Amino acid sequence: MEKKFVMHFPPILVDKPMISNIVRKYDLEFNILKAFVSPEEEGVLVIAFSGEEKNVFEAIEELKEKGVKIQLIESDIKMIRERCTDCSVCVGLCPTGALYIDRESYEVKFKPEKCIACELCIKGCPTEAMVSTI
Ligand code: SF4
Ligand code: SF4
Repeated sequence: MEKKFVMHFPPILVDKPMISNIVRKYDLEFNILKAFVSPEEEGVLVIAFSGEEKNVFEAIEELKEKGVKIQLIESDIKMIRERCTDCSVCVGLCPTGALYIDRESYEVKFKPEKCIACELCIKGCPTEAMVSTI
């Protein structure tokens, strides 16, 4: 199974190799979708963990115990292709590159595995082609 999370690392933990240690310990694969330092100097990571369900949630519990604030990304974003006019407004809004212009067809395409469910595309799309199914 794969689950996506937003993690906030307090300044004291930012330099620690917590993710590499935890994925080794719980035999997980990970994919960092976005990483930045907030104005409060917290490290913010949007990350996907994949592996055994039990291991994913034990890893999350351990990170929480160590002081990392974690939110599960549960929303499921979809593109309704028939409604899309390829106006590309959403491409400029999407912070992770989950929405992009296909260089061959010039159509706007959606890569769900890069989506962090921020819903900016839903708010910005003039034709309601981007929807949340939860
Ligand atoms: S904003 Fe909506 S209509 Fe425009 S390209 Fe994106 S999904 Fe399609
Ligand atoms: S919700 Fe929309 S704007 Fe946000 S990451 Fe997903 S596709 Fe991009």
